[in-house]
Amino acid sequence: MALQVWDDVFRDEKLVADLAAVVKDTALLQGVLMRTKSEPNSSEVVNYAPFTLLPSPVPQNLYEQAKAVQKDFNQLVDAVSQDLVFLEQALGSAIKVDDFTAKLFDIYKQVLHEGVAQSVCLGINRSDYMFDLGTDGTVSLKQIEINTIAASFGGLASRIPAVHRHILHLLDKYDDVSRLPDNNPSKGIAEGISKAWELYGSERAVVMFVVEDVQRNIFDHRCVENELWSRSIHVIRRRFEDVIERASLDEKRRLFMDDQEVAVVYYRHGYMPHNYSQQNWQARLLMERSRAVKCPDIATHLTGAKKVQQELARPGVLERWFPSDPETVRRIRATFAGLYSFDMGEEGDQTVALATANPDRFVLKPQREGGGNNIYGEEIRVVLEGIKDKPERSSYILMDRIRPQPVRNCLLRSGMPLKLSENISELGMFGVYVRNGKKMVLNECAGHLLRTKSIEHADGGVAAGVAVLDNPYLV
Ligand code: ADP
Ligand code: MG
Repeated sequence: MALQVWDDVFRDEKLVADLAAVVKDTALLQGVLMRTKSEPNSSEVVNYAPFTLLPSPVPQNLYEQAKAVQKDFNQLVDAVSQDLVFLEQALGSAIKVDDFTAKLFDIYKQVLHEGVAQSVCLGINRSDYMFDLGTDGTVSLKQIEINTIAASFGGLASRIPAVHRHILHLLDKYDDVSRLPDNNPSKGIAEGISKAWELYGSERAVVMFVVEDVQRNIFDHRCVENELWSRSIHVIRRRFEDVIERASLDEKRRLFMDDQEVAVVYYRHGYMPHNYSQQNWQARLLMERSRAVKCPDIATHLTGAKKVQQELARPGVLERWFPSDPETVRRIRATFAGLYSFDMGEEGDQTVALATANPDRFVLKPQREGGGNNIYGEEIRVVLEGIKDKPERSSYILMDRIRPQPVRNCLLRSGMPLKLSENISELGMFGVYVRNGKKMVLNECAGHLLRTKSIEHADGGVAAGVAVLDNPYLV
């Protein structure tokens, strides 16, 4: 497949420089923004969020495939999150050795023990994929992971199409504009939140975004926030520390923050161990116990664990939730890469042997989110050497390494020189669903996110300063 669609442009250095200057202005105009590293909590001076000079080619059939399977993934995540027996089985070995997962699971058990106070469930997830180039030259869609908490960049992804549309205008490629699919995840995400808010059933109640201290990516949040305000839904932004100090539950377990009733808690934080002090765990527990709709609730958060992903890929497992729906199972399973368990026993021993014999073929993943945690290449051997006979190995999973075909582009980053690089892209699909008791009342694919990074980096997302925002240019 011809993926180097912009080589004519890249041959002309002056053109590239001119385009880059204009397109940065376009990004600022369109609100593709980020606060600066040095002043992450101030909007006095802001930067454009990093993005590609040109949109990256994405095979149209794979884009459509990812879009089509998103509702299935929503169903799956929702079903797994309600399956205590499965979650207990899937996470049992990891919980024993991974303190963070164990703490989350502990909250889950406490909430179940007390009885879940809210029957409305709101899921906002993002399923991420890469395009695997097979040895026979075929390209296939392979899931990297599904993010069930704080899935980000739905806001800025809604703003970036206009930037690349403009650059196609500058190149006089008006006919190609239709190759950039429309995208507005902000709207779909806000629709999910407002549906949950409505079902909560109190007009005065607010939506609370749980945010971190350092708020560089605030504009991404603001896109969703502003959609909610425009629907007459009030939004507040609070940190775990604020919850500890000023939130409480009443006798009906309604959550009050600064005397405002909270209908929906939307976590944009709380997915990494260092987000939690002892007190922050208490704040999380308080919110989970409450009647507010949590996005995600603790069970759905756990469903996004890498270990769960690996267990779902075992033969026959998906059928547990789709016993009479082989087509759904087929669609979901077609996106799975090879995933292998390190649980103690013969199977785990085989995984150790597999990884050690050929580390370049795999990625070693701990139960972590947020980028920069995975282990690649020779380091896989080093890490496994230390834990290969110990239960600690169960805190990892092994995954086939996806090898996309690199594509040339310029990654534009504030303050960095203009440079052509070889890159690979990762396509995310946003899933939004709302369940009321047993009934799914909303199940949508809310749009997409394309992130592109130089092949020099094995890991890391936009927030980590590695990947940049992009648009699929369907080929
Ligand atoms: P995180 O939860 O930290 O985002 P991911 O599983 O998404 O963890 O991995 C982080 C990054 O590592 C991905 O964005 C991707 O660039 C790279 N990566 C992860 N899994 C694979 C894989 N199987 N093959 C190739 N690259 C991968
Ligand atoms: Mg990821």
